[in-house]
Amino acid sequence: MHEAALTQSLIKVLLTQADRVKANSISRVTVKVGQLKAVEPQSLSFCFEMFAKDTLIEGAQLVIDHVPARATCHGCRRSFDISRFCFRCDACQSRNIELIQGEELFIESFET
Ligand SMILES: [Zn+2]
Repeated sequence: MHEAALTQSLIKVLLTQADRVKANSISRVTVKVGQLKAVEPQSLSFCFEMFAKDTLIEGAQLVIDHVPARATCHGCRRSFDISRFCFRCDACQSRNIELIQGEELFIESFET
């Protein structure tokens, strides 16, 4: 389950950031998760709770902010949502597209 590894790195970053602002505890964390990361929200919450145990993040509320996958087509200049991992322009069928969002996975903010 890749959520475990992702959560571990998120917590590592979070602990570093918390340390920087000299936080004693964290009450709420907002994480941006791109659609293409294929993260299961339940698994992420479960892993978060598990890895947060005995750290200053323990008991923090995890808020998952989903980012839909979007791309721009170089053929017709349209921007569109990518659904079901279909990397093709839905207007002109071009495969010459550029991903503009959907691969995010980072801590957006946290509250102490
Ligand atoms: Zn197109």
